[in-house]
Amino acid sequence: MSHNVNPKRYENMQYIRCGRSGLQLPRISLGLWHNFGDVTQYETSRQMIGTAFDLGITHFDLANNYGPPPGSAETNFGKILKQDFSTYRDEMIISSKAGYTMWPGPYGDWGTKKYLISSLNQSLKRMDLDYVDIFYHHRPDPNTPLEETMSALDLIVRQGKALYVGISNYPADRAKEAMRILNSLGTPCLIHQPKYSMFERWIEDGLQDVLQEEGVGSIAFSPLAGGLLTDRYLNGIPDDSRIASSSPSLTTEQLTQERLRKIKLLNQLAQKRGQKLSQMALAWVLRGDKVTSALIGASRVSQIVDAVDALDNLTFSQQELSEIENILAG
Ligand code: NDP
Repeated sequence: MSHNVNPKRYENMQYIRCGRSGLQLPRISLGLWHNFGDVTQYETSRQMIGTAFDLGITHFDLANNYGPPPGSAETNFGKILKQDFSTYRDEMIISSKAGYTMWPGPYGDWGTKKYLISSLNQSLKRMDLDYVDIFYHHRPDPNTPLEETMSALDLIVRQGKALYVGISNYPADRAKEAMRILNSLGTPCLIHQPKYSMFERWIEDGLQDVLQEEGVGSIAFSPLAGGLLTDRYLNGIPDDSRIASSSPSLTTEQLTQERLRKIKLLNQLAQKRGQKLSQMALAWVLRGDKVTSALIGASRVSQIVDAVDALDNLTFSQQELSEIENILAG
């Protein structure tokens, strides 16, 4: 049986324009990096996509290498689309990326035109789509001229294989140069996807100014620091958590005593605001509308519900903001 889509899905989600483009993105987007590959139960992944869409999350973020194994998140997402959402494609913003190692040899990594075009062709096949809405270059490539990478993005749009393009993990100066080249080619950069959370604030040091000046939107990945900025680890490391899993992306070393102390203080502040820590962490990333969307991950349906409920309170008093600064600095 296919999923019964919620007719009231647009009632509570908030959408804002991505930079100076016309495209509106939901304030919460769902990423498929973890928990959508072949190692996760298909039904769990399917329920999470269904819940997200029912709550007005129209944006699903993928990449060629998401799994494990690499590619399997796209394949599973394609199956879910076919099974549950075949008539809803036009209500979704689906993104993919290339830039990290995907296949052996000199053409399966980094930022050449050869890699980007072949990789997107493979992604479209896996998802059984004619086009993605946003295609990203996943990380800067020190050995390929930026002109080549950006002209590959431009070509992809001209071929109709992506509607918009973006860059991810680019530092401020390289991002600015990439945007200049894309503008000169007539395919403006829609969006930048950087890592951003209370524990990872590099974008405040230059990149956010560039995005503001250039009218480019941003989508913050790992806004919960992979789960650290939640109540997950307040009382130890649960067996079903990301730290306990075999994923190298979050390890016990990252949960230092110092971090845990800050997490507990932040949790107390969140409670005073009537929010869970995860919700305060998302509200903080979205404060002041500098970030277009917070790109969460989830291992279960309830986490997606939690994230959307964060939108009930996105405002901070000056005192709350200073308290957060003090906790983070302390
Ligand atoms: P988050 O920081 O949102 O971490 C998500 C994890 O936090 C979940 O898997 C879950 O972990 C835990 N969690 C989420 N909600 C709650 C909650 N309410 N209560 C308790 N725990 C919670 O993001 P991710 O690191 O997963 O990244 C999100 C997306 O960003 C990716 O899917 C991908 O699309 C994108 N990304 C992009 C990158 C890039 O280079 N461009 C790199 C990395 C990510 P648990 O398993 O413990 O339940």
